[in-house]
Amino acid sequence: MTYELNVAHLYGDLMNTYGDVGNILALNYYAKQMDVHLNVKVVSLEEDFHADDYDLAFFGGGQDFEQTIVSQDIQTKKAELTKFIESGGPLLAICGGFQLLGHYYIGADGEKLPGIGALDHYTLAQDHNRFIGNIVIKNQETGETYHGFENHQGRTFLGTDERPLGNVVSGKGNNGEDGTEGAIYKNVYCSYFHGPILTRNGDIAKHLLVAALKRKFPTADFSQQEALPIPATF
Ligand code: GLN
Repeated sequence: MTYELNVAHLYGDLMNTYGDVGNILALNYYAKQMDVHLNVKVVSLEEDFHADDYDLAFFGGGQDFEQTIVSQDIQTKKAELTKFIESGGPLLAICGGFQLLGHYYIGADGEKLPGIGALDHYTLAQDHNRFIGNIVIKNQETGETYHGFENHQGRTFLGTDERPLGNVVSGKGNNGEDGTEGAIYKNVYCSYFHGPILTRNGDIAKHLLVAALKRKFPTADFSQQEALPIPATF
């Protein structure tokens, strides 16, 4: 392979609802076609995350119990994760991971778990309810349509500088009120989609990989990689 990217799988042993690890398999699948080798490392509790060591990061979803543990540990990685994000590091965060990149998440029992506030959203609880089911959204900038499955009690409200990953066509999305789903900030993509998201929406895998390649190899030409056809099914 001509190129190599270092991938951090944040809390991969704890944050993995609905087979979110499948996103790593999908990234590998597309990376190979782009002539890219991925070195994937799980970065979990009490392990250091150094922004400069990684070219791409993935943070999956989790149940409230795991989120309670991760919410504490991630404070030790806050500065470096923020540095990674602010310097244009591509990161995909799903559901519980999405919530913990924001200011806080209020769990089903009312406990307020701090996030790292690297992105400007916050997440409130619902009263004995969850948003569960298939969901379809449309990204307004690219015109791409994304398909997934959502299962969350949290209701997320986006902040400044964040735009939604897409507008809800069917399903609930971030909060069931404002028609937004997920978030994009710099090269960070957030979503409530399981499925896993990248196995059903290869375009997002391509955006992440191309962003990582351009950032790491700024003088190389990646037009071939950008033109990679995305199969309808993984
Ligand atoms: N525990 C969080 C919620 O219920 C996140 C769920 C998930 O990651 N699937 O909202």
